[in-house]
Amino acid sequence: ELRWNHQDPDYLPPEIDTSKPSIARVYDAFLGGKDNFAADRAVAAEGMRHFPDRGEGARQNRAMLFRGVRFMAEQGIDQFLDIGSGLPTMDNTHSVAQRVNPGAKVVYVDNDPIVLAHARALLQTNDDTRVITADMRRPDTILRHPQIEGFLDLSRPIGLLMVAVVHHLGDAEDPHGLVDRYKAALAPGSYLQLTHFCSCAPEVRALEGVLLKMLGTGRARDMPEILGFFDGLELVEPGVVHLPEWRPGQPVRTPLGLGGICIAGGVGRKP
Ligand code: SAM
Repeated sequence: ELRWNHQDPDYLPPEIDTSKPSIARVYDAFLGGKDNFAADRAVAAEGMRHFPDRGEGARQNRAMLFRGVRFMAEQGIDQFLDIGSGLPTMDNTHSVAQRVNPGAKVVYVDNDPIVLAHARALLQTNDDTRVITADMRRPDTILRHPQIEGFLDLSRPIGLLMVAVVHHLGDAEDPHGLVDRYKAALAPGSYLQLTHFCSCAPEVRALEGVLLKMLGTGRARDMPEILGFFDGLELVEPGVVHLPEWRPGQPVRTPLGLGGICIAGGVGRKP
Protein backbone atom coordinates (compact mmCIF):
# COMPACT_ATOMS: atom_id res chain seq x y z
CA GLU A 1 0.00 0.00 0.00
CA LEU A 2 2.89 2.30 0.79
CA ARG A 3 4.52 1.72 -2.59
CA TRP A 4 1.12 2.13 -4.27
CA ASN A 5 0.87 5.59 -2.77
CA HIS A 6 4.43 6.38 -3.70
CA GLN A 7 3.97 6.32 -7.44
CA ASP A 8 6.21 3.48 -8.50
CA PRO A 9 5.44 2.75 -12.16
CA ASP A 10 6.72 -0.82 -11.84
CA TYR A 11 4.64 -1.69 -8.79
CA LEU A 12 1.86 -4.21 -9.41
CA PRO A 13 -0.88 -4.79 -6.82
CA PRO A 14 -1.07 -8.45 -5.76
CA GLU A 15 -4.51 -8.94 -7.38
CA ILE A 16 -2.92 -8.60 -10.80
CA ASP A 17 -2.19 -12.02 -12.32
CA THR A 18 0.39 -11.67 -15.06
CA SER A 19 0.23 -15.37 -15.98
CA LYS A 20 -3.16 -14.92 -17.68
CA PRO A 21 -3.82 -12.48 -20.50
CA SER A 22 -5.91 -9.40 -19.67
CA ILE A 23 -7.97 -7.43 -22.19
CA ALA A 24 -6.32 -4.13 -21.28
CA ARG A 25 -2.80 -5.52 -21.60
CA VAL A 26 -3.52 -7.43 -24.85
CA TYR A 27 -4.85 -4.17 -26.34
CA ASP A 28 -1.69 -2.44 -25.10
CA ALA A 29 0.36 -5.12 -26.88
CA PHE A 30 -1.62 -4.55 -30.12
CA LEU A 31 -0.81 -0.83 -29.74
CA GLY A 32 2.89 -1.57 -29.31
CA GLY A 33 2.86 -0.41 -25.65
CA LYS A 34 5.14 -1.68 -22.89
CA ASP A 35 2.58 -2.43 -20.16
CA ASN A 36 2.06 -6.07 -21.12
CA PHE A 37 3.42 -9.52 -20.26
CA ALA A 38 4.26 -12.72 -22.16
CA ALA A 39 0.72 -14.12 -21.80
CA ASP A 40 -0.71 -10.91 -23.33
CA ARG A 41 1.84 -10.78 -26.13
CA ALA A 42 1.03 -14.41 -27.03
CA VAL A 43 -2.62 -13.45 -27.68
CA ALA A 44 -1.63 -10.36 -29.70
CA ALA A 45 0.88 -12.39 -31.76
CA GLU A 46 -1.66 -15.13 -32.51
CA GLY A 47 -4.28 -12.45 -33.33
CA MET A 48 -1.90 -10.76 -35.76
CA ARG A 49 -1.05 -14.11 -37.35
CA HIS A 50 -4.71 -14.45 -38.33
CA PHE A 51 -5.28 -10.74 -38.81
CA PRO A 52 -2.05 -9.24 -40.14
CA ASP A 53 -2.84 -5.56 -39.64
CA ARG A 54 0.28 -4.86 -37.53
CA GLY A 55 -1.89 -3.26 -34.85
CA GLU A 56 -3.37 -0.74 -37.26
CA GLY A 57 -6.96 -1.47 -36.10
CA ALA A 58 -6.10 -0.63 -32.49
CA ARG A 59 -4.28 2.55 -33.55
CA GLN A 60 -7.23 3.61 -35.73
CA ASN A 61 -9.53 3.03 -32.76
CA ARG A 62 -7.39 5.15 -30.49
CA ALA A 63 -7.19 7.91 -33.13
CA MET A 64 -10.97 7.94 -33.61
CA LEU A 65 -11.46 8.01 -29.82
CA PHE A 66 -9.48 11.26 -29.71
CA ARG A 67 -11.27 12.76 -32.74
CA GLY A 68 -14.58 12.05 -31.02
CA VAL A 69 -13.49 13.51 -27.68
CA ARG A 70 -12.19 16.64 -29.41
CA PHE A 71 -15.45 16.95 -31.34
CA MET A 72 -17.56 16.64 -28.17
CA ALA A 73 -15.33 19.10 -26.30
CA GLU A 74 -15.71 21.56 -29.17
CA GLN A 75 -19.50 21.23 -28.82
CA GLY A 76 -19.05 22.45 -25.25
CA ILE A 77 -18.94 19.11 -23.41
CA ASP A 78 -16.79 19.62 -20.32
CA GLN A 79 -17.37 16.33 -18.48
CA PHE A 80 -16.60 12.83 -19.74
CA LEU A 81 -17.24 9.32 -18.46
CA ASP A 82 -14.83 6.93 -20.20
CA ILE A 83 -15.99 3.36 -19.58
CA GLY A 84 -13.51 0.60 -20.42
CA SER A 85 -10.84 3.26 -20.67
CA GLY A 86 -7.88 0.90 -20.91
CA LEU A 87 -4.28 1.58 -19.95
CA PRO A 88 -2.99 5.11 -20.44
CA THR A 89 -1.12 5.67 -23.71
CA MET A 90 0.82 8.60 -25.16
CA ASP A 91 -2.35 10.66 -25.41
CA ASN A 92 -5.50 10.15 -23.34
CA THR A 93 -9.11 11.31 -23.09
CA HIS A 94 -8.41 13.87 -20.38
CA SER A 95 -5.49 15.49 -22.20
CA VAL A 96 -7.50 15.78 -25.42
CA ALA A 97 -10.58 17.16 -23.63
CA GLN A 98 -8.60 19.52 -21.40
CA ARG A 99 -6.69 20.90 -24.39
CA VAL A 100 -10.05 22.17 -25.72
CA ASN A 101 -11.74 22.92 -22.38
CA PRO A 102 -9.20 23.43 -19.61
CA GLY A 103 -10.91 22.25 -16.46
CA ALA A 104 -12.93 19.56 -18.30
CA LYS A 105 -13.62 16.73 -15.88
CA VAL A 106 -12.93 13.12 -16.83
CA VAL A 107 -13.67 9.89 -14.98
CA TYR A 108 -12.00 6.74 -16.25
CA VAL A 109 -13.71 3.43 -15.44
CA ASP A 110 -12.21 0.01 -16.03
CA ASN A 111 -12.77 -3.33 -14.34
CA ASP A 112 -9.08 -4.27 -14.62
CA PRO A 113 -7.22 -3.05 -11.53
CA ILE A 114 -4.02 -2.64 -13.54
CA VAL A 115 -5.63 0.39 -15.18
CA LEU A 116 -6.07 2.04 -11.78
CA ALA A 117 -2.47 1.22 -10.83
CA HIS A 118 -1.06 2.86 -13.97
CA ALA A 119 -3.51 5.74 -14.28
CA ARG A 120 -3.16 6.79 -10.64
CA ALA A 121 0.53 7.46 -11.08
CA LEU A 122 -0.21 9.46 -14.22
CA LEU A 123 -3.04 11.48 -12.71
CA GLN A 124 -1.71 12.32 -9.29
CA THR A 125 -1.36 15.97 -10.21
CA ASN A 126 -4.62 16.35 -12.15
CA ASP A 127 -7.54 17.35 -9.90
CA ASP A 128 -10.02 17.25 -12.79
CA THR A 129 -9.47 13.57 -13.61
CA ARG A 130 -10.37 10.47 -11.62
CA VAL A 131 -10.07 6.75 -12.20
CA ILE A 132 -12.21 4.04 -10.65
CA THR A 133 -12.32 0.26 -10.84
CA ALA A 134 -15.85 -0.87 -11.66
CA ASP A 135 -17.71 -3.16 -14.04
CA MET A 136 -19.72 -1.63 -16.88
CA ARG A 137 -22.33 -4.36 -16.39
CA ARG A 138 -23.37 -2.50 -13.22
CA PRO A 139 -24.50 0.92 -14.47
CA ASP A 140 -26.14 1.89 -11.17
CA THR A 141 -22.91 1.23 -9.27
CA ILE A 142 -20.97 3.37 -11.74
CA LEU A 143 -23.45 6.23 -12.05
CA ARG A 144 -23.85 6.48 -8.25
CA HIS A 145 -20.20 5.85 -7.48
CA PRO A 146 -18.94 8.07 -4.65
CA GLN A 147 -16.06 9.22 -6.88
CA ILE A 148 -18.57 10.36 -9.51
CA GLU A 149 -21.34 11.88 -7.40
CA GLY A 150 -20.45 15.49 -6.74
CA PHE A 151 -17.69 15.36 -9.38
CA LEU A 152 -19.64 14.86 -12.62
CA ASP A 153 -22.99 16.65 -12.79
CA LEU A 154 -25.26 14.15 -14.53
CA SER A 155 -28.08 16.72 -14.72
CA ARG A 156 -25.93 18.47 -17.37
CA PRO A 157 -24.71 17.00 -20.69
CA ILE A 158 -21.75 14.64 -20.56
CA GLY A 159 -19.72 12.73 -23.11
CA LEU A 160 -20.12 9.00 -22.47
CA LEU A 161 -17.38 6.89 -24.04
CA MET A 162 -17.85 3.18 -24.62
CA VAL A 163 -14.98 2.75 -27.01
CA ALA A 164 -13.93 -0.79 -27.94
CA VAL A 165 -15.50 -2.19 -24.79
CA VAL A 166 -19.06 -3.36 -25.57
CA HIS A 167 -17.68 -6.16 -27.76
CA HIS A 168 -16.42 -7.69 -24.52
CA LEU A 169 -20.05 -8.51 -23.64
CA GLY A 170 -21.67 -11.72 -24.85
CA ASP A 171 -25.17 -11.73 -26.33
CA ALA A 172 -26.52 -13.30 -23.13
CA GLU A 173 -25.43 -10.16 -21.28
CA ASP A 174 -27.86 -8.07 -23.39
CA PRO A 175 -25.36 -5.42 -24.57
CA HIS A 176 -28.07 -3.31 -26.23
CA GLY A 177 -30.17 -3.29 -23.06
CA LEU A 178 -27.12 -2.27 -21.05
CA VAL A 179 -26.20 0.63 -23.35
CA ASP A 180 -29.88 1.70 -23.21
CA ARG A 181 -29.64 1.96 -19.43
CA TYR A 182 -26.69 4.33 -19.70
CA LYS A 183 -28.41 6.40 -22.40
CA ALA A 184 -31.51 6.72 -20.21
CA ALA A 185 -29.38 8.23 -17.43
CA LEU A 186 -27.88 10.93 -19.68
CA ALA A 187 -29.13 14.52 -19.70
CA PRO A 188 -30.41 15.85 -23.06
CA GLY A 189 -27.53 17.23 -25.11
CA SER A 190 -25.22 14.44 -23.92
CA TYR A 191 -23.20 12.41 -26.40
CA LEU A 192 -22.40 8.71 -26.69
CA GLN A 193 -19.24 7.67 -28.52
CA LEU A 194 -19.16 3.92 -29.14
CA THR A 195 -16.93 1.70 -31.25
CA HIS A 196 -17.17 -2.06 -31.72
CA PHE A 197 -15.51 -4.97 -33.55
CA CYS A 198 -17.24 -5.28 -36.88
CA SER A 199 -17.84 -8.65 -38.52
CA CYS A 200 -17.49 -7.09 -41.97
CA ALA A 201 -14.79 -9.41 -43.28
CA PRO A 202 -13.84 -13.07 -42.81
CA GLU A 203 -10.45 -11.97 -41.44
CA VAL A 204 -12.20 -10.23 -38.53
CA ARG A 205 -14.08 -13.45 -37.81
CA ALA A 206 -10.69 -15.20 -37.64
CA LEU A 207 -9.42 -12.58 -35.16
CA GLU A 208 -12.64 -12.97 -33.17
CA GLY A 209 -11.99 -16.71 -33.02
CA VAL A 210 -8.50 -16.16 -31.58
CA LEU A 211 -9.75 -13.67 -28.98
CA LEU A 212 -12.69 -15.83 -27.91
CA LYS A 213 -10.43 -18.87 -27.58
CA MET A 214 -7.41 -17.30 -25.88
CA LEU A 215 -8.97 -14.37 -24.01
CA GLY A 216 -12.53 -15.64 -23.59
CA THR A 217 -14.03 -12.43 -24.98
CA GLY A 218 -14.08 -10.18 -28.06
CA ARG A 219 -17.27 -10.53 -30.07
CA ALA A 220 -17.62 -9.09 -33.58
CA ARG A 221 -21.09 -7.77 -34.49
CA ASP A 222 -22.53 -6.61 -37.82
CA MET A 223 -23.27 -3.01 -38.84
CA PRO A 224 -27.02 -3.08 -38.05
CA GLU A 225 -26.23 -4.43 -34.57
CA ILE A 226 -23.63 -1.69 -34.02
CA LEU A 227 -26.02 0.95 -35.33
CA GLY A 228 -28.58 -0.35 -32.83
CA PHE A 229 -26.48 0.90 -29.93
CA PHE A 230 -27.32 4.45 -31.06
CA ASP A 231 -31.12 3.96 -31.10
CA GLY A 232 -32.86 7.06 -29.79
CA LEU A 233 -29.86 9.32 -30.49
CA GLU A 234 -29.21 11.77 -33.33
CA LEU A 235 -26.16 10.46 -35.18
CA VAL A 236 -23.39 12.97 -35.74
CA GLU A 237 -22.26 13.03 -39.40
CA PRO A 238 -21.10 10.76 -41.02
CA GLY A 239 -22.99 8.25 -38.84
CA VAL A 240 -21.77 4.78 -37.93
CA VAL A 241 -18.84 3.95 -40.20
CA HIS A 242 -15.50 2.18 -40.28
CA LEU A 243 -13.30 4.25 -38.02
CA PRO A 244 -10.92 5.83 -40.54
CA GLU A 245 -14.04 7.32 -42.19
CA TRP A 246 -15.26 9.07 -39.04
CA ARG A 247 -14.42 12.76 -39.53
CA PRO A 248 -10.81 12.17 -40.66
CA GLY A 249 -8.57 15.19 -40.73
CA GLN A 250 -7.41 14.31 -44.23
CA PRO A 251 -8.70 12.32 -47.23
CA VAL A 252 -8.91 8.59 -46.53
CA ARG A 253 -7.17 6.07 -48.80
CA THR A 254 -9.70 3.55 -50.10
CA PRO A 255 -10.27 0.69 -50.17
CA LEU A 256 -9.60 0.51 -46.45
CA GLY A 257 -7.08 -2.08 -45.35
CA LEU A 258 -7.66 -4.72 -42.69
CA GLY A 259 -6.89 -2.26 -39.88
CA GLY A 260 -9.50 0.10 -41.25
CA ILE A 261 -12.38 -2.32 -41.46
CA CYS A 262 -12.17 -4.26 -38.20
CA ILE A 263 -13.88 -1.68 -35.98
CA ALA A 264 -16.91 0.52 -36.66
CA GLY A 265 -18.55 3.20 -34.58
CA GLY A 266 -19.71 6.74 -34.29
CA VAL A 267 -21.03 9.46 -32.04
CA GLY A 268 -24.68 10.17 -31.22
CA ARG A 269 -26.36 13.05 -29.38
CA LYS A 270 -29.27 12.62 -26.99
CA PRO A 271 -32.04 14.98 -28.12
N1 SAM B 1 -11.44 2.44 -24.54
C1 SAM B 1 -10.02 2.24 -24.78
C2 SAM B 1 -9.73 2.49 -26.22
O1 SAM B 1 -10.64 2.32 -27.03
O2 SAM B 1 -8.60 2.84 -26.59
C3 SAM B 1 -9.58 0.85 -24.35
C4 SAM B 1 -10.23 -0.29 -25.09
S1 SAM B 1 -9.68 -1.91 -24.56
C5 SAM B 1 -9.87 -2.85 -26.05
C6 SAM B 1 -11.08 -2.48 -23.59
C7 SAM B 1 -11.02 -2.11 -22.14
O3 SAM B 1 -12.28 -2.38 -21.55
C8 SAM B 1 -9.99 -2.89 -21.34
O4 SAM B 1 -9.16 -2.01 -20.61
C9 SAM B 1 -10.80 -3.77 -20.42
O5 SAM B 1 -10.18 -4.00 -19.17
C10 SAM B 1 -12.08 -2.96 -20.29
N2 SAM B 1 -13.27 -3.79 -19.95
C11 SAM B 1 -13.63 -4.97 -20.49
N3 SAM B 1 -14.75 -5.43 -19.92
C12 SAM B 1 -15.12 -4.49 -18.99
C13 SAM B 1 -16.19 -4.40 -18.07
N4 SAM B 1 -17.10 -5.37 -17.96
N5 SAM B 1 -16.25 -3.30 -17.28
C14 SAM B 1 -15.31 -2.33 -17.36
N6 SAM B 1 -14.27 -2.37 -18.22
C15 SAM B 1 -14.17 -3.44 -19.03
